[in-house]
Amino acid sequence: MTKDGKMIFPLNEGLYTLPSLPDEKTQLIGSKCTNCGELFFPKKDKGLCIHCQQITLEEVKLSRQGKIASFTIVLQPPSGGFYHGPVPYAYGYVDLPEGVRIETQFTGDFNTLEIGGDVELVIEKLYEDAEGNEFVTYKFKPLKD
Ligand SMILES: [Zn+2]
Repeated sequence: MTKDGKMIFPLNEGLYTLPSLPDEKTQLIGSKCTNCGELFFPKKDKGLCIHCQQITLEEVKLSRQGKIASFTIVLQPPSGGFYHGPVPYAYGYVDLPEGVRIETQFTGDFNTLEIGGDVELVIEKLYEDAEGNEFVTYKFKPLKD
């Protein structure tokens, strides 16, 4: 709930933790194989590691910082009417230090995006509906401004 009584809804529920305390930070939720060490994001529900074919996955919280693997600036909204966020937007992949690649939108100043640049996970409003309810999702933000 926001200050003025609107509701906040997380999109893609289960992809990240939602902090309940002001100084808690959100983290993406992945799966790690206890047998071969392979990491997956998003987490896999059935616990089957597609790398070693064992049912040995456990839920793990992933690093909040990573490096930009690739990005693009999208100037037109995707067709199909499912996208309600701002345009243009930046989209791409982030490599986390533990070795998993995350598909994500970027926020902040697009001019500071660069391959290999350091980014940090944030939860941010993607759009709000006619009643002012906020729909939030995870994004990565460049650490330098
Ligand atoms: Zn495995």
